[in-house]
Amino acid sequence: MSAIPPFEPSANVATNVPATTSSGLLDAVTGNPYFSAGFGLIGVGAGLAVLRQGLQRGLDLAQRNLLVTLEIPSRDKSYPWFLNWISHAQVTRKNSQQLAVETSYRRHDNGSVSSTFNLVPGPGRHYFKYRGVWLRVERQRDGRLMDLTTGNPFETVTLTTLSRDRRIFQTLLEDAREAALAKEDGKTVMLTSWGSEWRPFGLPRKRRLMASVVLDRGLAESIVSDVEDFIANEAWYNQRGIPYRRGYLLYGPPGSGKTSFIQALAGHLQYNICILNLSERGLTDDRLNHLLSVAPIRSLILLEDVDAAFTKRKQTDQEGFQSNVTFSGLLNALDGVASSEERIILMTTNHIDRLDQALIRPGRVDMKVYLGDATPYQMRLMFLRFYEGKTALADQFVSALEGRPPVSTAQLQGHFVTYKHDPRSAIEHVGELFTPPLVV
Ligand code: ADP
Repeated sequence: MSAIPPFEPSANVATNVPATTSSGLLDAVTGNPYFSAGFGLIGVGAGLAVLRQGLQRGLDLAQRNLLVTLEIPSRDKSYPWFLNWISHAQVTRKNSQQLAVETSYRRHDNGSVSSTFNLVPGPGRHYFKYRGVWLRVERQRDGRLMDLTTGNPFETVTLTTLSRDRRIFQTLLEDAREAALAKEDGKTVMLTSWGSEWRPFGLPRKRRLMASVVLDRGLAESIVSDVEDFIANEAWYNQRGIPYRRGYLLYGPPGSGKTSFIQALAGHLQYNICILNLSERGLTDDRLNHLLSVAPIRSLILLEDVDAAFTKRKQTDQEGFQSNVTFSGLLNALDGVASSEERIILMTTNHIDRLDQALIRPGRVDMKVYLGDATPYQMRLMFLRFYEGKTALADQFVSALEGRPPVSTAQLQGHFVTYKHDPRSAIEHVGELFTPPLVV
């Protein structure tokens, strides 16, 4: 620690008046009590300033030698882990006056919405004790620098602790990572494009079981075995210089389980899902290409309702769609010129007839699967999923639907939910599938 300059008593200042002063004047000054007091005060002031400077230097030195800081910029992967961890650790909540809210929002399949609010320390300084070590958290927002890809201001969290406790940083980050991964364990993380990167969207979802999606006989198995075969053969592709990607198109009427199947497939493979909306405003060819090439490993890339991006113009239009993505830009991105990483791209559409042949030619779409309205096989299986072991009733249900207009598997699900405790009523009221009951 640097030595603090000695504090000079005020009397010395007063006597340091230049010697050239005539003795008469000196007498008048030193003899005058007001002058003496004034010089005394100046001396005290100067002394305090020196003391303060010395203290500041001492503190700076101590900070340099005794404290250690860790910066976590908002661009770093560990940043959301840390914020998530601190919102659950509840360590700062008791001590912090300034809190900020981080909202997770999720829309369920049935259209309902749920959200959770995590309270995290807001911008400013906060102190907390973790594993017996005191830490200071400082959250700073850079008001001037914006992340152009997300439109959010850059932020930095700085952690400070005593130098001897520096290992706590490693422990803390590991704990934060563990907490984040534990949250994802057994779950499917949905990611969405955020500027030029992928970010988790909503809370990780419970994995959807493959058995919960009933496709026509053998269909699910053939898709799963194709994807698994692709995943297992990276070396084969690399050795032959073939881009390591595979495209799937699931098409058919709404409510046939296209999205649900993709969720189940992700759950089965323990992959996450990157959802790309081609109609998103501000999506350009470059961004699309970039997003496809930086998709996280072990993720399925989902382009839902690919035909929707082309509703405004004909898809062959080179000028681009609503979102500024041109058709050739989409084809280039799918061809993944820049990427040698594994890419599994799944597209869904309700209208395959609206898709340009160039989009669905082999190499871009390697497997086209039709998911149609419920077949007798699916009707029976879905019935048994809701009413276990009721095989005779399942056959009756299928017979009751014979010769009737087609129904979707989503409609069947709705019907079984209505009569969840009563399979006989589900059969009796089969007509409601075609004329929904009036709500009075
Ligand atoms: P799509 O993507 O074909 O429009 P979804 O997968 O969104 O259909 O299905 C809508 C709802 O209907 C979901 O709640 C899903 O559970 C149910 N559903 C649709 N098809 C099936 C199916 N084949 N097996 C099980 N559930 C299904």
